[in-house]
Amino acid sequence: MSDDFPGTEGRPVRVAVVGSGPAGFYTIAALFKQADFPLQVDLFDRLPTPFGLVRGGVAPDHPKIKGVIRVYDKLAGKDNFRFFGNVRIGRDLSVAELQEHYDQIVFATGNEAWRNLGIPGEDLAGVHSATEFVGWYNGHPDFRDLTFDLENARRVIVVGNGNVAMDVTRILAEDPKRLETTDIAEHALEVLRKSRVEEILILGRRGPAQAAFTNKEIKEIGGLSSADLIVDPADMELDGVTRRWMTEHTTSQMTKNVDYLTEHSRQEPKGAGKRVELRMLVSPVEFHESDGRLGSVVIEKNELFESEDGTPRPRGSGVRSVEEIQLSFSAVGYRGLPVPGVPFNERRGLLANQNGRIWDPDSEKAVTGLYTTGWAKRGPTGLIGSNVADANETVERMLEDLRCRHTQPTQKPDGQAIGALLKTRGVDRVTYADWRRLDAMELERGSKNGKIREKFTRIDEMMSALRED
Ligand code: NAP
Repeated sequence: MSDDFPGTEGRPVRVAVVGSGPAGFYTIAALFKQADFPLQVDLFDRLPTPFGLVRGGVAPDHPKIKGVIRVYDKLAGKDNFRFFGNVRIGRDLSVAELQEHYDQIVFATGNEAWRNLGIPGEDLAGVHSATEFVGWYNGHPDFRDLTFDLENARRVIVVGNGNVAMDVTRILAEDPKRLETTDIAEHALEVLRKSRVEEILILGRRGPAQAAFTNKEIKEIGGLSSADLIVDPADMELDGVTRRWMTEHTTSQMTKNVDYLTEHSRQEPKGAGKRVELRMLVSPVEFHESDGRLGSVVIEKNELFESEDGTPRPRGSGVRSVEEIQLSFSAVGYRGLPVPGVPFNERRGLLANQNGRIWDPDSEKAVTGLYTTGWAKRGPTGLIGSNVADANETVERMLEDLRCRHTQPTQKPDGQAIGALLKTRGVDRVTYADWRRLDAMELERGSKNGKIREKFTRIDEMMSALRED
Protein backbone atom coordinates (compact mmCIF):
# COMPACT_ATOMS: atom_id res chain seq x y z
CA MET A 1 0.00 0.00 0.00
CA SER A 2 1.56 3.33 -1.03
CA ASP A 3 1.93 6.01 1.60
CA ASP A 4 -0.52 8.44 0.06
CA PHE A 5 -3.42 6.00 0.25
CA PRO A 6 -5.17 6.17 3.64
CA GLY A 7 -4.65 3.37 6.11
CA THR A 8 -1.05 3.67 7.26
CA GLU A 9 0.51 4.95 10.49
CA GLY A 10 1.69 8.03 8.60
CA ARG A 11 -1.63 8.55 6.88
CA PRO A 12 -4.48 7.14 8.98
CA VAL A 13 -7.94 6.81 7.45
CA ARG A 14 -9.86 9.95 8.33
CA VAL A 15 -13.41 9.05 9.34
CA ALA A 16 -16.22 11.43 10.23
CA VAL A 17 -19.18 10.02 12.14
CA VAL A 18 -22.24 12.27 12.17
CA GLY A 19 -24.51 11.70 15.18
CA SER A 20 -23.31 10.73 18.65
CA GLY A 21 -26.11 8.39 19.74
CA PRO A 22 -25.68 4.63 20.22
CA ALA A 23 -25.46 4.04 16.45
CA GLY A 24 -22.56 6.50 16.15
CA PHE A 25 -20.69 5.13 19.16
CA TYR A 26 -21.10 1.47 18.16
CA THR A 27 -19.69 2.40 14.74
CA ILE A 28 -16.69 3.90 16.48
CA ALA A 29 -16.39 0.77 18.66
CA ALA A 30 -16.28 -1.41 15.54
CA LEU A 31 -13.76 0.91 13.85
CA PHE A 32 -11.47 0.85 16.88
CA LYS A 33 -11.79 -2.93 17.20
CA GLN A 34 -10.41 -3.69 13.72
CA ALA A 35 -6.64 -3.83 13.40
CA ASP A 36 -6.15 -3.54 9.62
CA PHE A 37 -6.24 0.22 9.23
CA PRO A 38 -4.93 2.92 11.57
CA LEU A 39 -7.57 5.64 11.70
CA GLN A 40 -8.58 8.98 13.15
CA VAL A 41 -12.25 9.44 14.05
CA ASP A 42 -14.06 12.76 14.41
CA LEU A 43 -17.57 12.57 15.86
CA PHE A 44 -20.00 15.39 15.02
CA ASP A 45 -23.23 16.27 16.78
CA ARG A 46 -25.54 19.23 16.31
CA LEU A 47 -25.98 19.43 20.10
CA PRO A 48 -23.19 20.35 22.53
CA THR A 49 -24.00 17.12 24.41
CA PRO A 50 -23.36 13.57 23.14
CA PHE A 51 -25.34 10.29 23.39
CA GLY A 52 -28.48 11.02 21.33
CA LEU A 53 -31.53 9.09 22.51
CA VAL A 54 -29.68 7.69 25.54
CA ARG A 55 -29.76 11.23 26.91
CA GLY A 56 -32.86 12.62 25.17
CA GLY A 57 -35.07 9.53 24.73
CA VAL A 58 -34.52 6.85 27.38
CA ALA A 59 -37.02 7.39 30.21
CA PRO A 60 -35.63 9.02 33.37
CA ASP A 61 -36.94 6.14 35.51
CA HIS A 62 -34.85 3.66 33.47
CA PRO A 63 -31.37 4.70 34.66
CA LYS A 64 -29.83 1.24 34.15
CA ILE A 65 -30.34 1.51 30.37
CA LYS A 66 -28.24 4.67 30.44
CA GLY A 67 -25.30 2.65 31.82
CA VAL A 68 -24.18 2.11 28.19
CA ILE A 69 -22.72 5.62 28.37
CA ARG A 70 -19.74 4.16 30.27
CA VAL A 71 -18.77 2.19 27.14
CA TYR A 72 -19.11 5.30 24.95
CA ASP A 73 -17.09 7.38 27.38
CA LYS A 74 -14.26 4.88 27.26
CA LEU A 75 -14.16 5.04 23.45
CA ALA A 76 -14.10 8.83 23.64
CA GLY A 77 -10.95 8.60 25.76
CA LYS A 78 -8.87 7.19 22.85
CA ASP A 79 -6.14 9.39 21.38
CA ASN A 80 -7.48 9.07 17.85
CA PHE A 81 -10.96 10.32 18.81
CA ARG A 82 -12.26 13.88 18.76
CA PHE A 83 -15.75 15.26 19.47
CA PHE A 84 -17.17 18.16 17.48
CA GLY A 85 -20.30 19.04 19.46
CA ASN A 86 -22.53 21.99 18.56
CA VAL A 87 -21.68 21.55 14.87
CA ARG A 88 -24.60 20.90 12.54
CA ILE A 89 -23.85 19.21 9.24
CA GLY A 90 -25.89 20.97 6.57
CA ARG A 91 -25.60 24.34 8.36
CA ASP A 92 -22.10 24.80 9.81
CA LEU A 93 -20.44 22.39 7.38
CA SER A 94 -21.85 20.92 4.19
CA VAL A 95 -21.57 17.24 3.28
CA ALA A 96 -19.38 18.33 0.31
CA GLU A 97 -17.00 20.02 2.77
CA LEU A 98 -16.89 16.92 4.95
CA GLN A 99 -16.02 14.93 1.83
CA GLU A 100 -13.09 17.29 1.22
CA HIS A 101 -11.69 16.58 4.71
CA TYR A 102 -12.51 12.90 5.33
CA ASP A 103 -11.96 9.63 3.51
CA GLN A 104 -15.12 8.07 4.85
CA ILE A 105 -18.25 9.57 6.44
CA VAL A 106 -20.88 7.65 8.39
CA PHE A 107 -24.32 9.15 9.01
CA ALA A 108 -25.74 7.94 12.31
CA THR A 109 -28.32 10.70 12.40
CA GLY A 110 -31.20 8.61 13.74
CA ASN A 111 -34.86 9.48 13.26
CA GLU A 112 -35.53 13.02 14.38
CA ALA A 113 -39.12 13.30 13.13
CA TRP A 114 -42.25 11.36 13.95
CA ARG A 115 -45.18 9.81 12.16
CA ASN A 116 -48.55 11.52 12.31
CA LEU A 117 -51.94 9.85 12.44
CA GLY A 118 -53.19 11.79 9.41
CA ILE A 119 -56.70 12.29 10.82
CA PRO A 120 -58.88 15.45 11.03
CA GLY A 121 -58.22 17.67 14.04
CA GLU A 122 -54.61 16.60 14.52
CA ASP A 123 -53.54 20.27 14.50
CA LEU A 124 -55.67 21.15 17.56
CA ALA A 125 -54.01 22.41 20.74
CA GLY A 126 -53.68 19.41 23.02
CA VAL A 127 -52.78 16.92 20.28
CA HIS A 128 -49.11 16.03 20.65
CA SER A 129 -46.60 13.52 19.39
CA ALA A 130 -45.00 11.29 22.00
CA THR A 131 -41.60 12.35 20.63
CA GLU A 132 -42.27 15.94 21.72
CA PHE A 133 -43.36 14.87 25.20
CA VAL A 134 -40.40 12.52 25.63
CA GLY A 135 -37.98 15.22 24.47
CA TRP A 136 -39.62 17.72 26.83
CA TYR A 137 -39.41 15.63 29.99
CA ASN A 138 -35.86 14.62 29.10
CA GLY A 139 -34.79 18.26 28.70
CA HIS A 140 -33.90 18.05 25.00
CA PRO A 141 -33.27 21.64 23.79
CA ASP A 142 -35.59 21.18 20.76
CA PHE A 143 -38.61 20.47 22.97
CA ARG A 144 -37.73 22.20 26.22
CA ASP A 145 -40.08 25.16 25.68
CA LEU A 146 -43.18 23.21 24.65
CA THR A 147 -46.17 23.26 26.97
CA PHE A 148 -48.29 20.31 28.00
CA ASP A 149 -51.44 21.36 29.82
CA LEU A 150 -51.57 18.51 32.33
CA GLU A 151 -53.17 20.78 34.90
CA ASN A 152 -56.38 21.03 32.88
CA ALA A 153 -56.49 17.46 31.64
CA ARG A 154 -58.38 14.65 33.30
CA ARG A 155 -58.56 12.09 30.47
CA VAL A 156 -55.85 11.56 27.89
CA ILE A 157 -55.19 9.06 25.12
CA VAL A 158 -51.88 7.51 24.12
CA VAL A 159 -52.04 6.09 20.59
CA GLY A 160 -49.83 3.10 19.74
CA ASN A 161 -48.77 -0.11 21.43
CA GLY A 162 -44.98 0.21 21.38
CA ASN A 163 -42.44 0.89 24.11
CA VAL A 164 -42.62 4.66 23.55
CA ALA A 165 -46.36 4.46 24.34
CA MET A 166 -45.40 2.60 27.53
CA ASP A 167 -42.82 5.25 28.51
CA VAL A 168 -45.29 8.10 27.99
CA THR A 169 -48.05 6.27 29.88
CA ARG A 170 -45.73 5.51 32.80
CA ILE A 171 -44.53 9.10 33.11
CA LEU A 172 -48.16 10.31 33.07
CA ALA A 173 -49.37 7.66 35.53
CA GLU A 174 -46.39 7.53 37.90
CA ASP A 175 -46.38 9.35 41.22
CA PRO A 176 -44.09 12.36 40.52
CA LYS A 177 -42.41 11.74 43.91
CA ARG A 178 -40.88 8.60 42.41
CA LEU A 179 -39.32 10.67 39.64
CA GLU A 180 -37.80 13.27 41.96
CA THR A 181 -34.41 11.57 42.25
CA THR A 182 -34.06 10.79 38.53
CA ASP A 183 -32.54 13.00 35.84
CA ILE A 184 -35.97 14.17 34.64
CA ALA A 185 -35.88 17.85 33.65
CA GLU A 186 -37.01 20.06 36.52
CA HIS A 187 -39.46 22.02 34.32
CA ALA A 188 -41.24 18.74 33.53
CA LEU A 189 -41.31 17.58 37.13
CA GLU A 190 -42.97 20.86 38.16
CA VAL A 191 -45.74 20.35 35.58
CA LEU A 192 -46.16 16.66 36.47
CA ARG A 193 -46.60 17.60 40.13
CA LYS A 194 -49.59 19.75 39.16
CA SER A 195 -51.04 17.16 36.78
CA ARG A 196 -54.74 16.35 37.18
CA VAL A 197 -54.64 13.42 34.78
CA GLU A 198 -56.78 10.59 36.20
CA GLU A 199 -57.36 8.34 33.23
CA ILE A 200 -55.10 7.27 30.38
CA LEU A 201 -56.54 5.27 27.49
CA ILE A 202 -53.91 3.41 25.47
CA LEU A 203 -55.27 2.72 22.00
CA GLY A 204 -53.82 -0.26 20.10
CA ARG A 205 -54.99 -0.62 16.51
CA ARG A 206 -54.45 -4.39 16.57
CA GLY A 207 -54.79 -7.03 19.29
CA PRO A 208 -52.67 -8.15 22.25
CA ALA A 209 -50.79 -10.71 20.13
CA GLN A 210 -49.60 -7.93 17.80
CA ALA A 211 -48.61 -5.45 20.51
CA ALA A 212 -45.11 -4.06 19.94
CA PHE A 213 -44.34 -3.40 23.62
CA THR A 214 -41.95 -5.75 25.38
CA ASN A 215 -43.26 -7.80 28.29
CA LYS A 216 -41.13 -6.01 30.85
CA GLU A 217 -42.60 -2.66 29.82
CA ILE A 218 -46.29 -3.64 30.04
CA LYS A 219 -45.61 -5.39 33.36
CA GLU A 220 -44.10 -2.17 34.66
CA ILE A 221 -47.40 -0.40 33.94
CA GLY A 222 -49.32 -3.22 35.61
CA GLY A 223 -47.02 -2.93 38.63
CA LEU A 224 -47.44 0.81 39.22
CA SER A 225 -48.68 1.55 42.71
CA SER A 226 -50.13 4.87 41.53
CA ALA A 227 -52.40 3.39 38.84
CA ASP A 228 -54.60 0.45 37.93
CA LEU A 229 -54.07 -1.20 34.58
CA ILE A 230 -57.50 -2.11 33.23
CA VAL A 231 -57.77 -4.75 30.53
CA ASP A 232 -61.12 -5.91 29.13
CA PRO A 233 -61.28 -9.75 29.11
CA ALA A 234 -63.21 -9.52 25.81
CA ASP A 235 -60.14 -7.93 24.19
CA MET A 236 -58.12 -10.99 25.15
CA GLU A 237 -60.23 -13.38 23.07
CA LEU A 238 -58.06 -13.88 20.02
CA ASP A 239 -59.79 -13.66 16.64
CA GLY A 240 -59.53 -16.35 13.93
CA VAL A 241 -57.01 -14.39 11.81
CA THR A 242 -54.67 -14.02 14.78
CA ARG A 243 -55.03 -17.64 15.84
CA ARG A 244 -54.20 -18.87 12.31
CA TRP A 245 -51.22 -16.52 12.14
CA MET A 246 -49.99 -17.57 15.58
CA THR A 247 -49.74 -21.22 14.59
CA GLU A 248 -46.63 -20.33 12.59
CA HIS A 249 -45.49 -16.98 13.90
CA THR A 250 -45.68 -17.15 17.67
CA THR A 251 -42.82 -15.38 19.40
CA SER A 252 -42.01 -15.50 23.10
CA GLN A 253 -42.89 -11.79 23.41
CA MET A 254 -46.32 -12.47 21.93
CA THR A 255 -47.05 -15.39 24.23
CA LYS A 256 -45.79 -13.57 27.30
CA ASN A 257 -47.84 -10.46 26.51
CA VAL A 258 -51.05 -12.37 25.79
CA ASP A 259 -50.62 -14.53 28.92
CA TYR A 260 -49.83 -11.58 31.14
CA LEU A 261 -52.70 -9.44 29.87
CA THR A 262 -55.20 -12.32 29.98
CA GLU A 263 -54.25 -13.00 33.57
CA HIS A 264 -54.38 -9.29 34.37
CA SER A 265 -57.84 -8.90 32.77
CA ARG A 266 -59.23 -11.32 35.39
CA GLN A 267 -57.93 -9.33 38.33
CA GLU A 268 -59.94 -6.81 40.32
CA PRO A 269 -58.54 -3.26 40.18
CA LYS A 270 -56.56 -2.46 43.33
CA GLY A 271 -58.21 0.96 43.65
CA ALA A 272 -55.14 3.07 42.93
CA GLY A 273 -55.57 6.77 42.17
CA LYS A 274 -55.23 6.66 38.38
CA ARG A 275 -56.60 4.36 35.68
CA VAL A 276 -54.66 3.14 32.67
CA GLU A 277 -57.04 1.45 30.29
CA LEU A 278 -55.55 -0.69 27.54
CA ARG A 279 -58.01 -0.79 24.63
CA MET A 280 -57.35 -3.15 21.80
CA LEU A 281 -58.46 -3.13 18.15
CA VAL A 282 -59.34 0.57 18.10
CA SER A 283 -58.12 3.61 16.15
CA PRO A 284 -58.74 7.31 16.66
CA VAL A 285 -60.39 8.61 13.48
CA GLU A 286 -61.20 12.29 14.28
CA PHE A 287 -60.28 14.81 16.93
CA HIS A 288 -62.94 17.36 17.89
CA GLU A 289 -62.53 20.78 19.36
CA SER A 290 -64.00 22.25 22.51
CA ASP A 291 -63.28 25.87 23.54
CA GLY A 292 -60.52 26.16 20.94
CA ARG A 293 -58.65 23.02 21.93
CA LEU A 294 -58.95 19.25 21.95
CA GLY A 295 -62.23 18.16 23.57
CA SER A 296 -62.98 14.69 22.27
CA VAL A 297 -61.91 11.89 19.97
CA VAL A 298 -63.94 9.61 17.74
CA ILE A 299 -62.70 6.04 18.10
CA GLU A 300 -63.47 3.29 15.62
CA LYS A 301 -63.46 -0.40 16.44
CA ASN A 302 -61.19 -2.38 14.11
CA GLU A 303 -61.25 -5.90 12.81
CA LEU A 304 -58.25 -7.80 11.57
CA PHE A 305 -57.91 -9.20 8.05
CA GLU A 306 -55.24 -11.41 6.55
CA SER A 307 -52.85 -9.38 4.40
CA GLU A 308 -51.08 -10.94 1.39
CA ASP A 309 -48.33 -12.46 3.54
CA GLY A 310 -50.80 -13.59 6.18
CA THR A 311 -49.96 -10.83 8.67
CA PRO A 312 -53.08 -9.63 10.48
CA ARG A 313 -53.74 -6.00 9.47
CA PRO A 314 -56.41 -3.68 10.93
CA ARG A 315 -59.39 -2.10 9.15
CA GLY A 316 -62.26 -0.03 10.53
CA SER A 317 -65.47 -1.87 11.29
CA GLY A 318 -67.65 1.25 11.10
CA VAL A 319 -68.54 0.98 14.80
CA ARG A 320 -67.65 4.30 16.36
CA SER A 321 -67.82 5.92 19.78
CA VAL A 322 -66.87 9.31 21.18
CA GLU A 323 -64.64 9.83 24.22
CA GLU A 324 -64.11 13.11 25.99
CA ILE A 325 -60.39 13.75 26.28
CA GLN A 326 -58.22 16.79 26.82
CA LEU A 327 -54.83 15.57 25.57
CA SER A 328 -53.56 13.08 23.01
CA PHE A 329 -50.06 11.65 22.53
CA SER A 330 -49.34 9.71 19.33
CA ALA A 331 -46.61 7.12 19.77
CA VAL A 332 -46.90 5.57 16.32
CA GLY A 333 -43.26 5.55 15.28
CA TYR A 334 -40.40 7.81 14.26
CA ARG A 335 -39.15 8.98 10.87
CA GLY A 336 -35.74 10.05 9.62
CA LEU A 337 -35.01 13.51 8.22
CA PRO A 338 -32.97 14.11 5.07
CA VAL A 339 -29.37 15.31 5.36
CA PRO A 340 -28.77 17.92 2.62
CA GLY A 341 -26.49 16.36 0.01
CA VAL A 342 -27.31 12.72 0.89
CA PRO A 343 -29.89 10.67 -1.09
CA PHE A 344 -33.05 10.11 0.95
CA ASN A 345 -35.68 7.39 0.70
CA GLU A 346 -38.82 9.48 1.15
CA ARG A 347 -41.19 6.52 1.29
CA ARG A 348 -39.33 4.80 4.12
CA GLY A 349 -38.11 7.99 5.83
CA LEU A 350 -34.44 6.95 5.92
CA LEU A 351 -31.16 7.61 4.13
CA ALA A 352 -31.09 5.71 0.83
CA ASN A 353 -28.65 2.85 1.39
CA GLN A 354 -27.78 -0.74 0.65
CA ASN A 355 -26.50 -2.56 3.73
CA GLY A 356 -25.00 0.66 5.02
CA ARG A 357 -23.51 2.08 1.80
CA ILE A 358 -25.29 5.29 0.79
CA TRP A 359 -27.01 4.52 -2.49
CA ASP A 360 -27.73 6.91 -5.33
CA PRO A 361 -31.05 5.80 -6.85
CA ASP A 362 -30.40 7.75 -10.08
CA SER A 363 -27.06 6.17 -10.95
CA GLU A 364 -27.96 2.99 -9.04
CA LYS A 365 -24.50 3.04 -7.50
CA ALA A 366 -23.09 3.41 -4.02
CA VAL A 367 -21.87 6.94 -3.30
CA THR A 368 -18.11 6.61 -2.71
CA GLY A 369 -17.11 7.25 0.88
CA LEU A 370 -20.63 7.74 2.35
CA TYR A 371 -22.23 5.26 4.77
CA THR A 372 -25.03 5.07 7.29
CA THR A 373 -25.95 3.08 10.38
CA GLY A 374 -28.64 2.82 13.06
CA TRP A 375 -32.17 4.16 12.64
CA ALA A 376 -31.07 6.42 9.73
CA LYS A 377 -30.13 3.18 7.92
CA ARG A 378 -32.80 0.66 8.94
CA GLY A 379 -35.68 2.68 10.43
CA PRO A 380 -36.87 2.99 14.04
CA THR A 381 -36.67 -0.60 15.23
CA GLY A 382 -34.92 -2.53 17.95
CA LEU A 383 -33.36 -1.73 21.29
CA ILE A 384 -30.06 0.10 21.94
CA GLY A 385 -28.06 -3.12 21.59
CA SER A 386 -29.53 -3.76 18.12
CA ASN A 387 -27.22 -1.03 16.86
CA VAL A 388 -24.13 -3.16 17.53
CA ALA A 389 -24.75 -5.67 14.72
CA ASP A 390 -25.97 -2.89 12.47
CA ALA A 391 -22.78 -0.84 13.02
CA ASN A 392 -20.63 -3.93 12.51
CA GLU A 393 -22.23 -4.47 9.11
CA THR A 394 -21.61 -0.87 8.04
CA VAL A 395 -18.01 -0.95 9.25
CA GLU A 396 -17.46 -4.22 7.36
CA ARG A 397 -18.57 -2.41 4.16
CA MET A 398 -16.20 0.48 4.96
CA LEU A 399 -13.26 -1.89 5.44
CA GLU A 400 -14.11 -3.77 2.24
CA ASP A 401 -14.06 -0.47 0.36
CA LEU A 402 -10.69 0.44 1.86
CA ARG A 403 -9.26 -2.94 0.92
CA CYS A 404 -10.52 -2.61 -2.67
CA ARG A 405 -9.58 1.07 -2.76
CA HIS A 406 -13.16 2.11 -3.45
CA THR A 407 -12.43 5.30 -1.60
CA GLN A 408 -11.78 8.86 -2.73
CA PRO A 409 -8.89 9.84 -0.41
CA THR A 410 -9.26 13.34 0.98
CA GLN A 411 -6.87 15.90 -0.44
CA LYS A 412 -6.94 17.70 2.94
CA PRO A 413 -5.77 15.07 5.42
CA ASP A 414 -4.52 17.70 7.86
CA GLY A 415 -6.36 17.00 11.10
CA GLN A 416 -6.33 20.67 12.15
CA ALA A 417 -8.01 22.01 9.01
CA ILE A 418 -11.61 21.23 9.98
CA GLY A 419 -11.29 22.96 13.36
CA ALA A 420 -9.71 25.98 11.66
CA LEU A 421 -12.54 26.12 9.11
CA LEU A 422 -15.16 26.05 11.87
CA LYS A 423 -13.31 28.82 13.68
CA THR A 424 -13.36 31.09 10.61
CA ARG A 425 -17.15 30.56 10.54
CA GLY A 426 -17.51 31.51 14.19
CA VAL A 427 -18.82 28.04 15.13
CA ASP A 428 -18.39 27.45 18.84
CA ARG A 429 -17.32 23.81 18.74
CA VAL A 430 -17.65 21.75 21.94
CA THR A 431 -14.86 19.22 22.59
CA TYR A 432 -15.21 16.02 24.60
CA ALA A 433 -13.27 17.66 27.43
CA ASP A 434 -15.88 20.47 27.36
CA TRP A 435 -18.65 17.86 27.55
CA ARG A 436 -16.95 16.27 30.56
CA ARG A 437 -17.01 19.67 32.26
CA LEU A 438 -20.72 20.08 31.44
CA ASP A 439 -21.33 16.56 32.71
CA ALA A 440 -19.63 17.35 36.03
CA MET A 441 -21.68 20.55 36.37
CA GLU A 442 -24.94 18.68 35.68
CA LEU A 443 -24.07 16.02 38.26
CA GLU A 444 -23.27 18.68 40.82
CA ARG A 445 -26.51 20.60 40.13
CA GLY A 446 -28.36 17.30 40.53
CA SER A 447 -26.69 16.32 43.79
CA LYS A 448 -27.76 19.65 45.33
CA ASN A 449 -31.40 18.64 44.72
CA GLY A 450 -31.05 14.96 45.56
CA LYS A 451 -31.23 14.05 41.86
CA ILE A 452 -28.94 11.92 39.69
CA ARG A 453 -28.38 14.90 37.41
CA GLU A 454 -29.91 18.24 36.57
CA LYS A 455 -29.51 18.71 32.83
CA PHE A 456 -28.84 21.93 31.03
CA THR A 457 -31.80 22.16 28.70
CA ARG A 458 -30.92 25.10 26.48
CA ILE A 459 -27.95 25.34 24.14
CA ASP A 460 -27.12 28.93 25.17
CA GLU A 461 -27.19 27.85 28.86
CA MET A 462 -24.69 25.10 28.07
CA MET A 463 -22.40 27.43 26.15
CA SER A 464 -22.50 30.13 28.85
CA ALA A 465 -21.82 27.54 31.56
CA LEU A 466 -18.75 26.38 29.64
CA ARG A 467 -17.50 29.94 29.14
CA GLU A 468 -18.00 30.82 32.81
CA ASP A 469 -16.47 27.60 34.14
P1 NAP B 1 -42.88 0.66 17.62
O1 NAP B 1 -42.32 -0.33 18.54
O2 NAP B 1 -42.72 0.45 16.16
O3 NAP B 1 -44.45 0.82 17.95
C1 NAP B 1 -45.27 1.65 17.20
C2 NAP B 1 -46.71 1.35 17.56
O4 NAP B 1 -47.54 2.27 16.86
C3 NAP B 1 -47.17 -0.05 17.13
O5 NAP B 1 -48.00 -0.57 18.11
C4 NAP B 1 -47.95 0.25 15.84
O6 NAP B 1 -48.96 -0.68 15.58
C5 NAP B 1 -48.57 1.58 16.20
N1 NAP B 1 -49.02 2.34 15.04
C6 NAP B 1 -48.32 2.66 13.93
N2 NAP B 1 -49.07 3.42 13.11
C7 NAP B 1 -50.27 3.57 13.72
C8 NAP B 1 -51.45 4.26 13.39
N3 NAP B 1 -51.57 4.95 12.25
N4 NAP B 1 -52.49 4.22 14.26
C9 NAP B 1 -52.40 3.54 15.42
N5 NAP B 1 -51.30 2.87 15.81
C10 NAP B 1 -50.25 2.88 14.96
O7 NAP B 1 -42.29 2.13 17.87
P2 NAP B 1 -41.93 2.98 19.17
O8 NAP B 1 -42.80 2.68 20.32
O9 NAP B 1 -41.84 4.37 18.66
O10 NAP B 1 -40.47 2.46 19.55
C11 NAP B 1 -39.38 2.57 18.60
C12 NAP B 1 -38.29 1.58 19.00
O11 NAP B 1 -37.65 2.02 20.20
C13 NAP B 1 -38.81 0.19 19.27
O12 NAP B 1 -37.92 -0.75 18.78
C14 NAP B 1 -38.88 0.14 20.79
O13 NAP B 1 -38.81 -1.16 21.33
C15 NAP B 1 -37.68 0.99 21.17
N6 NAP B 1 -37.88 1.53 22.54
C16 NAP B 1 -37.47 0.77 23.58
C17 NAP B 1 -37.69 1.21 24.87
C18 NAP B 1 -37.27 0.34 26.03
O14 NAP B 1 -36.49 -0.57 25.87
N7 NAP B 1 -37.77 0.60 27.21
C19 NAP B 1 -38.32 2.42 25.11
C20 NAP B 1 -38.72 3.18 24.02
C21 NAP B 1 -38.51 2.72 22.73
P3 NAP B 1 -48.80 -1.82 14.45
O15 NAP B 1 -48.00 -2.89 15.10
O16 NAP B 1 -50.19 -2.20 14.16
O17 NAP B 1 -48.09 -1.19 13.28
